[in-house]
Amino acid sequence: MTAAPLLRIASVTKRFGGFIALDSVSVDIMPGERFGLIGPNGSGKTTLIHCISGALRPNGGSIVFEGRDVTAMPAFKRTRAGIARSFQIPRPFRSMSVAENLMVALDFASLNHGLSGNQQRDYVMSILDRMGLGAKADAIASSLSQVELRKMELARAMAAKPKLLISDEAMAGLSSSEVDEVLDLLFAFSNEGITIIMIEHIMHAVMRFSQRVMCLDTGKIVAIGAPQEVMDNKRVQEAYLGA
Ligand code: ADP
Ligand code: MG
Repeated sequence: MTAAPLLRIASVTKRFGGFIALDSVSVDIMPGERFGLIGPNGSGKTTLIHCISGALRPNGGSIVFEGRDVTAMPAFKRTRAGIARSFQIPRPFRSMSVAENLMVALDFASLNHGLSGNQQRDYVMSILDRMGLGAKADAIASSLSQVELRKMELARAMAAKPKLLISDEAMAGLSSSEVDEVLDLLFAFSNEGITIIMIEHIMHAVMRFSQRVMCLDTGKIVAIGAPQEVMDNKRVQEAYLGA
């Protein structure tokens, strides 16, 4: 008997006008899985994440999370249900402090209820500390370096205590040692049982991290399976060459 999937993406189609960004994509993500999502620019990766997080409604198909159909559920409710994502382009509140940015995330996930101001601060600090951002709690977000911003984005996603964390190119623009730092954080979250979907162009990071990799091209799945298998797939290589 196989376990029930945490997330079931069933025949999801998304159109923008006449353009088909996702063409009947189906995949099950298992509880605790480390899942890599790759594909050339414009292949539909972020659109799929938007459909999962609730930022976009698919035109067809369904998204089922923990056995519950969330296809029509608004984004904030999905966050509360345990789906969190970090953005490809960080969207901090730049004039707020790092700690305040996390407070907003707590509020969005309704996790601040019943917590006193001090308890909220303690909770936020515990997340920032494990990200290595404790010393930056009172810094204004606009003063952060690129890697610090990426970590704050992950911290904001983690503040919502997700079951599923979706990381959309959290490593773009980072040095290789910074990539390793972010990778270590994601491994640590995974060790706590959080299911992770990682979208990444940095192939060695995807390869190291993922138990399974799926490659999209022009909104369709071209390969899914073990990382090396997918990298060796001729259609995957062609998709990247064509891009
Ligand atoms: P990826 O994340 O794989 O680079 P995206 O999911 O961002 O790709 O985009 C897939 C395709 O859908 C691209 O051709 C993109 O231009 C198009 N697209 C994405 N969002 C929109 C939108 N809001 N309106 C129109 N076209 C869009
Ligand atoms: Mg993208």
